Amino acid sequence: MDLRGKKVLVVGLARTGEAAVRFLAKKGAKVRVSEVKKAEELKTPREALRGLPVEWEMGGHTVPFFLGAELIIVSPGVPLSLEQLDEARGKGIPVISEIELAFRFLRRPAVGITGTNGKTTTTTMIGAMLKTWGKKAFVGGNIGNPLIDFVAGPQEEEWAVIELSSYQLEGIQKLRPKVSVLLNITEDHLDRYPSFQAYGEAKGRIFENQGKEDFAVLNADDPLTFQFAHRIKPQIFLFSRERSVPAGCFLDGAAILFQGADGTRERFSLERLKVRGTHNLENLMAAIAAAKICGCPREPLQRVIEEFEGLEHRLEWVRDLEGVKFFNDSKGTNVGSVVKSLMSFAEPVLLIAGGRDKEGDYGPLKDLIAGKVKGMALIGEARERMSADLGCLTETVKLPSLEAAVEWAWSRARPGDVVLLSPACSSFDMFANYQERGKRFKEAVWGLKRKPGLRPGLEGRPN
Ligand code: ADP
Repeated sequence: MDLRGKKVLVVGLARTGEAAVRFLAKKGAKVRVSEVKKAEELKTPREALRGLPVEWEMGGHTVPFFLGAELIIVSPGVPLSLEQLDEARGKGIPVISEIELAFRFLRRPAVGITGTNGKTTTTTMIGAMLKTWGKKAFVGGNIGNPLIDFVAGPQEEEWAVIELSSYQLEGIQKLRPKVSVLLNITEDHLDRYPSFQAYGEAKGRIFENQGKEDFAVLNADDPLTFQFAHRIKPQIFLFSRERSVPAGCFLDGAAILFQGADGTRERFSLERLKVRGTHNLENLMAAIAAAKICGCPREPLQRVIEEFEGLEHRLEWVRDLEGVKFFNDSKGTNVGSVVKSLMSFAEPVLLIAGGRDKEGDYGPLKDLIAGKVKGMALIGEARERMSADLGCLTETVKLPSLEAAVEWAWSRARPGDVVLLSPACSSFDMFANYQERGKRFKEAVWGLKRKPGLRPGLEGRPN
């Protein structure tokens, strides 16, 4: 793709947009930027790009500004359904996502990971596996570093392991991972998609350009994910918690078995597994299958199983206090992830949930709440609807703040219980993002005082 002298518009100027602007300017494009926020509202001030020959439109998008471009690059957070983008497409101007632009310059094979939940965890696991094997790997995409930053550099790493959101996948044309991983498809972002069907189809686009020489790793236990096995060209590897699979990973007692396409088997012991929850077994199986396809030997994979501790804000253990365990799952922003989080506990749970409603169905939570949740504190904009749908299943309170919810859960907790923040909602009604929500939860938990009259000594701190 020759960008020299080309008029390229970047829509959205967060971290990725900024990296795209720098890349395009270096390639000699005539860059313009359209950003919905005003200059003073941006986290990274425009000065960071000072000196580059860029035309700006801040505080909103206008059609004439878009129509002046020959190519439009869309940042990950910007919906492709913007009417200004429709107008541009109508005039024949190509509209692609940053990940597609980056892919056109990528000289390394890519492992792409998508799904409703588990993307960041699985991407990190695959990166750790390749690195433990001694390979250099770029790990980024929808997490951490934008791919465009990687392709701007010398590309010394052997593999690019990239997390792909459905938004990013909607804006691809030629992106073709060597290995594609689809973890699961459950309801999310229904506030942003016309239908659940449309959301699922966007995820499936990860396979669109793959050929017979490429590979796909699919969840055999998730019907919406598994149906792609019959529709796509790449060689299929499956993973399953429930049954053995012809090629891929499955469970066998306290072990994961990997079976290659030629029938050879490798066994991975789970006896020293650090991460919690069946969903993390799914992530591990997907990661092992992807790493095996890349040629990774057994030993580094076994080491990652024993060393990987999980990520912050994903079912993260915070503290034990008087026999009560506290977990931060602030990244549990949709119903599917809260289902998995609740399934991870045999103990009675005091659940803290709520936030900005994503307009999905809370129904899949019903049985777990009735069976495991001894009390539920609801916060944020969704608390009325959640309380109406789920409140009859357990003792439920609606509270004005996260701190009040932590205090309430602590007042109800008895030794042996779990207090879990797993909101099923996004955080934007009360917090800057899920990270801030998780940090505030942890601060509130660390601020709790012992209950008078209970035995001291039942307390633990992370080491
Ligand atoms: P993503 O990047 O897709 O948002 P994360 O790895 O950040 O995924 O995890 C997000 C949330 O989903 C966390 O609450 C986590 O506990 C939960 N989760 C992780 N893996 C899975 C999975 N395979 N299935 C369902 N939920 C999961």
